[in-house]
Amino acid sequence: MCQIVDEAAREAWERPLSRRAMLTTVAAAAAAAGGTAIATPAAAEGVGSGAAKGYRSRLVLLGTAGGPIWYPGTDRVGISSAVVVGDAVYLVDFGDGAGHRFKQAALVPADLQSVGGNWGEEKTRGMFVTHLHSDHIADYFHHFVLGWSNGLRRRAAGMPKIQVYGPGRRTDEQGNDVLEPIWTLPGQPPPNIPVNNPENPVPGLVDTTDYLFQAYSLDINDRMRDGRNPSLRTFFDVHDIAIPRGFGYHPNTAAHPTIEPWTVFEDDYVKVSATLVDHFPIVPAFGFRFDTDQGSVVFSGDTAPSDNLVRLAQGADILVHEVIAEQWVQTLYPKPWTDNNIAQMNHLMTAHTLPEDCGKIAERAGVDTLVLSHIVPGFAPDNWLTPAKKHFSGKLVIGRDLMELGIGSRS
Ligand SMILES: [Zn+2]
Ligand SMILES: [Zn+2]
Repeated sequence: MCQIVDEAAREAWERPLSRRAMLTTVAAAAAAAGGTAIATPAAAEGVGSGAAKGYRSRLVLLGTAGGPIWYPGTDRVGISSAVVVGDAVYLVDFGDGAGHRFKQAALVPADLQSVGGNWGEEKTRGMFVTHLHSDHIADYFHHFVLGWSNGLRRRAAGMPKIQVYGPGRRTDEQGNDVLEPIWTLPGQPPPNIPVNNPENPVPGLVDTTDYLFQAYSLDINDRMRDGRNPSLRTFFDVHDIAIPRGFGYHPNTAAHPTIEPWTVFEDDYVKVSATLVDHFPIVPAFGFRFDTDQGSVVFSGDTAPSDNLVRLAQGADILVHEVIAEQWVQTLYPKPWTDNNIAQMNHLMTAHTLPEDCGKIAERAGVDTLVLSHIVPGFAPDNWLTPAKKHFSGKLVIGRDLMELGIGSRS
């Protein structure tokens, strides 16, 4: 999620009047925590392992909050989801707290749990990162360094490596680096701020993973040489997702061109397709679709309303879509608004999707169920989000951490 959200929240807390307004908002959100009829888990979905019993393919919401903020008034943690097919596990995004939720979700059968650890990593087959904002990767490397003690070592001989996919470096269609992103508010000059890691300021997932391997060298070397663990590299293949040529993609001038979904990964359980979504200036940013023998589920990633996403989600059983509540944005920027405030609010609401627009996207895609997740703010009361139903004729579910939904038909 955009850095500007973090900055806006900080500014709001630092302004006495706004802080009071925020506290009022949080109190209202907590009071509304009981939820509405729409949000109450029922039949095929619910919170906790077994809620989607009878479904071979399941969606498990691990974390449902969006943004790099420890929101008050909610126990939602950072965005993360799992698709489980039989006992094969695929993970999408790794927000703050996702590792703990992964443990709580107990995605593998009980006989694979033990006092020696949670063996969730024993059955993980794929990891997918929509984009490299911190609220999507804060717990990413936990699956590597903590994975040793939580199932990696128990993977059956001959089991394929965990396939990891995410955005590559900021390049044009020909693969040339485009290192200067447009981190500038509308109508303002580029900020005069030093660049972190100037030799590679916008790394892709492979680079990011390599940096993390470097940063954790003490632990990795200790656990390999003293603990006699096998090399972590033997468990993972990390890939930057290649963007198909010929659609005119360019990080600065055409970050969200019309593009046909393309296959990123396929095995005996799932086919995973991707598209480019609209989260400028963070590019590339992906949405993913998982097709299983039982049904399909689509993840929007972070995006403004996206025609590419509508194409990707066409006819899917479930669309998991990000959402931002307009009321929160207005709380962050109390009137009177300066020109800067207006530009910042526009920026927030054009890099993300309002509830009503989520419903419109779901309706256009013809999905059966719309699940709101990556909820901004995490403490949003349900009545801030239920406008998603206004233009959507299917079923609306407001995501909760550890909620499970059956995908498609029962097995
Ligand atoms: Zn985000
Ligand atoms: Zn983001």
